[in-house]
Amino acid sequence: MLTPSTSTSVAQSIQVHSILFIEDDDLHFEVILAAVRSCEHIEFSHERARSLSEARHCIAEKHFDLILLDLGLPESKGVETIIRLAEITRAAPVVVITSDTNIDLGTSSLQHGAMDFLSKDEISQATLSRVIRYSLERWRQKNAIEQSLSDLERFGDAVAHDLISPLNSIQGFAKLIELGLEKYQEDEDLHQNLKLLESSTLRAAALVHDLHKFARLGRRAVDLEYADLTEIVSETVDSLQVLIQENGATVRCDSLPTFVCDRGLIAHVLQNLISNAIKYHREGVPPVISISCCEVNKYQVISVSDNGIGIPDFESDRIFQPFERLSHNNHIDGSGLGLAICKRIVEAHRGQIWVDAHEGEGSTFRFYLATSLEDAIGHHESKNAC
Ligand code: ADP
Repeated sequence: MLTPSTSTSVAQSIQVHSILFIEDDDLHFEVILAAVRSCEHIEFSHERARSLSEARHCIAEKHFDLILLDLGLPESKGVETIIRLAEITRAAPVVVITSDTNIDLGTSSLQHGAMDFLSKDEISQATLSRVIRYSLERWRQKNAIEQSLSDLERFGDAVAHDLISPLNSIQGFAKLIELGLEKYQEDEDLHQNLKLLESSTLRAAALVHDLHKFARLGRRAVDLEYADLTEIVSETVDSLQVLIQENGATVRCDSLPTFVCDRGLIAHVLQNLISNAIKYHREGVPPVISISCCEVNKYQVISVSDNGIGIPDFESDRIFQPFERLSHNNHIDGSGLGLAICKRIVEAHRGQIWVDAHEGEGSTFRFYLATSLEDAIGHHESKNAC
């Protein structure tokens, strides 16, 4: 797993945990390996494959964060090697390192998905270090673009389905009211239909609001400052007073640390988690929500726990995807975007968010933020330890 810190930092540290060298020539392999070893800021373990079929075995056994590929292998030559490797895996960035200096080969390597192209004559600590760094950053950006495109696709689906359904209701109830007004001055159904008209409008407006927020977040940069988390929770709880009182909820909060974060965005995460904790309570059981913090591997992990309906284990990743809602709460209003927005915000802080929950036994949402250079290194290690 790669752990870039900030996209703008020149002194960016990178950890590459595993590199696959696909190189049939022993001497060339030793030279490239020595050059990568001499690169500062790149720590790695490696495996070597002498052919694409050996590479296939390695890739089937484990995930690689980077592949350094020679194009002249026993079973394929030139750009065909990249095409054949893409048939085996597309899950890691590929850097071509080859004896052929033909510039057209470089261009067509990139056109077929390689992140960079380096001639073996050019190998040095400086060039390799630059090529690996830039390739990893390009890979990160490529994945971010692909994620945005797939979100956009889901956006289209949501507009087609979720937004059109309340709008159809609005149209239908408006028609009924029109008919009701013609026939009766005092009509019970008329009042009922007016209420439904109002709730459909609110649902459509809430969905448009969430969609707008979600789409904008993709482009917004985080605005970092020192922020007292206890203060943010207290303001959030104040803003949720109506919901808290209506549901007889209790919110408890430990003393929380100061974070380097975007205050407004983190307030949004907490508001979402707390309001979900109230919304998804068990029938007849007043919601009790606890907010706490514990330190794991030098990360401050914030937990928001509830005693609500819980979440089946196998659904715990799906709920962070846009527009995903669990079927057991179809009767509760929502857009399915709240947690996707939280995930986007936390990831914009180079952190992670996840949930520990079982069906019927309450849920604990946890997140941490890694906004500084040091924090970004090794952030994946802190998951599941709180
Ligand atoms: P929404 O609440 O608008 O449906 P979210 O993205 O906030 O969207 O949540 C996605 C789904 O995750 C919810 O529909 C619900 O099924 C589940 N969920 C979220 N928070 C909780 C919670 N605290 N307890 C139980 N289920 C939850």
